[in-house]
Amino acid sequence: PSDVARITSGQVITDLVSILKELVENSIDAESTKLEIIFKNNGLESIEVIDNGVGIKKEDYDKICLRHHTSKLESLEHLETVATLGFRGEALASLNSIANLTLTTCTKDDNSKASQLKFTSMGELKETKTVIGGKTGTHVKITDIFHNLPVRFKSLEKTIKKEYNKAITLIISYLLIYPQIRFSIYNHNLATGKKNLVMGTQGLKRSTTLDSLLAVFGSNGSYGLVPLDIDLKDLEVNFRLSSGVFPVMTTLNLKFEGYISDKSFGMGRSSSDRQFVYINRRPVTNKRILKTVNEVYKLFNHTQFPVVVLNIVIDPQMLDINVTPDKRTVFIRHEDLINDVLREELSNFYNSLSI
Ligand code: ADP
Ligand code: MG
Repeated sequence: PSDVARITSGQVITDLVSILKELVENSIDAESTKLEIIFKNNGLESIEVIDNGVGIKKEDYDKICLRHHTSKLESLEHLETVATLGFRGEALASLNSIANLTLTTCTKDDNSKASQLKFTSMGELKETKTVIGGKTGTHVKITDIFHNLPVRFKSLEKTIKKEYNKAITLIISYLLIYPQIRFSIYNHNLATGKKNLVMGTQGLKRSTTLDSLLAVFGSNGSYGLVPLDIDLKDLEVNFRLSSGVFPVMTTLNLKFEGYISDKSFGMGRSSSDRQFVYINRRPVTNKRILKTVNEVYKLFNHTQFPVVVLNIVIDPQMLDINVTPDKRTVFIRHEDLINDVLREELSNFYNSLSI
């Protein structure tokens, strides 16, 4: 199989959540510090993501929507250590094939002349229009989602509110772990003609995850939070290879950082929708790690779900990011082991906390 085949593991865009995920990640990868996201009718009508990142260079215009075009992965050797969130070059191509995509972009060298780009369904550049007075950054607008997939559109139409809420939760997960980026999220209700600010950190002066938690969830979401900072260097661990009889010793560096509720967190405040887990700042859905957190917490508090923003920092060699198309399920080598370490360290952490 070619390199391209190896980094392709299926369809990227299957629902509203994956659309938002790909667009937000692209803006983060472009080093944006400001991100505006506008839904129209919960996203059914249109979705816009406007960033102030580096923009797209003119010489890339004709490639940007072609499958497997990426400016981020130099060679496959880098796959294990990629620092950017995207690396497959599939998202825009995929989006463009299921929706109507308009891209307006401007780099700092474009002298405030932005270009508005449109593409054929095959991803070839179809139209370039110059827009005067552009700001550096990229504006992606998507309309007519699933216009060529009527069954999928019907299903989206039925579940749009749920999908929209899931998308908001996903955006929050990025907002919390990238506090240096100012987010504002709007939903434009076509029936009432109102454009409502759903949430945001645009008004924040400081930039910490804690400030963002407060901005988004209010006092309930930030009540009794304590910083988590467990730094394990050269941790000696034994593990057994699936093929081997004897345990093998290895050392690893592992960090658990973020915020978690202290023991004072009371009934009525507990809620499972304020729990965010990341691996190397990549939001992941890892039920197992969350279960461990909740189990340990329950030993110290009668409520079940602490507010938690947990970033696990781990050597990229220990990860297999390229598993599911959306990269949210990240496989960790020796996951058992890391889970055990987390359980022990978190117990120690709570034991040493006075409240
Ligand atoms: P990937 O993120 O895997 O590289 P995408 O299909 O998501 O692939 O994007 C293709 C390319 O388009 C990226 O590599 C990047 O060069 C460019 N791009 C997409 N979105 C943005 C953005 N918001 N700002 C700057 N460049 C972007
Ligand atoms: Mg991408």
